[in-house]
Amino acid sequence: MTTTSQSAPTGLDIHFDGVVHLYPSPEGDVVALRGVDLDVEAGEEFALLGPSGSGKSTVLSLLAGLQRASAGQIQIGPYEMGKLSNRQLLRLRATEVSLVLQDPARNLLPYATATQNIEFAQRGARGRGKTPPWSPLELLQELGMGPLAGRTVATLSGGEQQRVAIASGVAGAPRLLLVDEPTSQLDTISRDQVIELLHRINSQLGSTVVSVTHDPAVAAAMPRTVTIRDGRVGAEGRRGQEYAVVGRDGSVQLPPDVLEMLPPGTLLQVRRHRAGVDLRNPELEPHDQ
Ligand code: ADP
Repeated sequence: MTTTSQSAPTGLDIHFDGVVHLYPSPEGDVVALRGVDLDVEAGEEFALLGPSGSGKSTVLSLLAGLQRASAGQIQIGPYEMGKLSNRQLLRLRATEVSLVLQDPARNLLPYATATQNIEFAQRGARGRGKTPPWSPLELLQELGMGPLAGRTVATLSGGEQQRVAIASGVAGAPRLLLVDEPTSQLDTISRDQVIELLHRINSQLGSTVVSVTHDPAVAAAMPRTVTIRDGRVGAEGRRGQEYAVVGRDGSVQLPPDVLEMLPPGTLLQVRRHRAGVDLRNPELEPHDQ
């Protein structure tokens, strides 16, 4: 698949500063995000990981402007999300930010063909005066869906619909692509094709790509992983190396296996050295040292 050449990277950078999100409920507010700080450069590609209920979908919907943060600031490229009107948020989603929801049917027009769905998704790019870099057929072929291009979406299987949804999400060359569990209904071949397409929009167009995933193959294929746990950003991974993040309030979330070793309330000895600090549990030290 070829593209028209692009000059400067087109991706949007992302900055979360102390983002809190609450869902009101009759039993009291549910705190979904409790002070998330996150900085993503324009043109980064990363996976958002974490157990169910940790706040991943909330982060995606805030990035897409489907909801507004209860507190804190979200900056996406030049846009301060809290200051945009509902109309401006809608326009942003129709043009520069593309969200592919987990349930493929929610992204698609069921009685239109796969090709028509993708053409529809490309209207935003045309509205920005841009020629979409890929034709619907090219995108569908890339995902092994060429023979089904003329089929009505309602007659496709869940996995086929998922691939049409991803092709539609990518089709308008968004500056920020958000995908929720993009491979949940796919076999390994289709999964690898989807990963390849995500890499391609990132490397060829410079788009920033954020994937929420439980799929270890998707996580392993991403240059950066960010783990959310209990509404806070916890560990970070960069090219297979694990990192913990110091939050702006000074807190550090430990990876789960470390947390098992050092449960909450453990008194740790802090030893400083040039590259940082060691946190040690003196009770686990051999006594003869
Ligand atoms: P994840 O995507 O990691 O599974 P979510 O962002 O969906 O997590 O949810 C984070 C927390 O917010 C969970 O405790 C969830 O139950 C709660 N939550 C999500 N959506 C709603 C909602 N519409 N109303 C009430 N609570 C919600």
